[in-house]
Amino acid sequence: MRFTHETLPQRVVFAPSSAAGTLADEVGRLEARRLMVIAGEAEGALADGLVADLPVALRHTEVAMHVPVEVADRARAAAQQHGVDALVSIGGGSTTGLAKAVALTSGLPIVAVPTTYAGSEATAVWGLTEGGRKTTGVDPRVLPRVVVYDATLLSTLPVGLSVASGLNAVAHCVDSMWAPRTDPVDQALAVEGIRALRSGLPEVIRDPRGLHGRERTLCGAYLAAVAFASAGSGLHHKICHVLGGMYDLPHAQTHAVVLPYVLAFNGPSVPDAERRMAAAFDAPSALDGLQRLRAEVDAPRALRDYGLRASEVPAAADAVLREVPPGNPRTVTRDDLVEVLHRAWEGAEP
Ligand code: NAD
Repeated sequence: MRFTHETLPQRVVFAPSSAAGTLADEVGRLEARRLMVIAGEAEGALADGLVADLPVALRHTEVAMHVPVEVADRARAAAQQHGVDALVSIGGGSTTGLAKAVALTSGLPIVAVPTTYAGSEATAVWGLTEGGRKTTGVDPRVLPRVVVYDATLLSTLPVGLSVASGLNAVAHCVDSMWAPRTDPVDQALAVEGIRALRSGLPEVIRDPRGLHGRERTLCGAYLAAVAFASAGSGLHHKICHVLGGMYDLPHAQTHAVVLPYVLAFNGPSVPDAERRMAAAFDAPSALDGLQRLRAEVDAPRALRDYGLRASEVPAAADAVLREVPPGNPRTVTRDDLVEVLHRAWEGAEP
């Protein structure tokens, strides 16, 4: 067993029902005096309650999914103009993503307060979209210095978005089992992430305002993101990045739809990983377990429901083919990708 695993330097605080006080403590530890608070309009009310007593120099509300470069440029200019010394992001992956775009060019530290299960806060991966193409990269400057998790902040996340976002976290786990840099540490985190998510997410559906299911799901989402941060993007993520960048499909829902098709495709080629995932899902096979979970939470079903047209499948397949990760457990042809994408488009059996 020979591998190199890099553990990312980050302070992670789980603070149920006490994000405001915890955030103030963490900003104090950083000795930040001029904060740029990034929170979209939808997360504005949540942010109001968290930053009232902080040294805020600037509130920035222009957030857009997949971080268009022009949105990033405006945020970077605003940060510079106001002489901020730290960034506080309060929101989902899009908000964290914008803070990362600012940190990438400024080196400013980020304190992230996530309000979805996207997991971007635990990775050093940034993403920017320009002219219909999403570019991602890895840079230690964008890794948030501190993450403050408070599951009560997710109680306003609508159930449909909670499901999609929770399945995005499941996708981090599954893809981490075969991604290019996967190692035994990532796989241990991923399997435990699946365990937490498959029990937490149905609880969120049964009791959307309850804390227990949200906490378990949030913890699973964090484990998933740490695994993904180390293992890198596998075939599933490459497919979703292409679809998000080229067709502006919603991130979490796209992950939720595509995952069973990639698991059906790759799963048989990784029997050991498949067995471990099946055990974590408590099901005869990983795919059975995922499909059971998807049925229980009424998961998003088809890419056509999110705006992809059947006529766009061939071009998407071409674009994914150029990005197939090295070392994918089985060979991937253009025909394979057309088949996977077409099935996901129509919501067919995987
Ligand atoms: P998002 O941040 O766009 O949020 C989805 C919607 O939910 C938005 O309308 C938002 O305003 C709303 N929302 C968020 N939190 C809420 C809350 N608590 N209550 C009510 N509404 C709330 O979506 P996302 O799925 O969290 O993130 C997607 C983005 O994150 C994509 O751009 C994706 O590429 C990126 N991402 C990056 C990484 C990484 O490692 N770099 C990992 C995961 C996702």
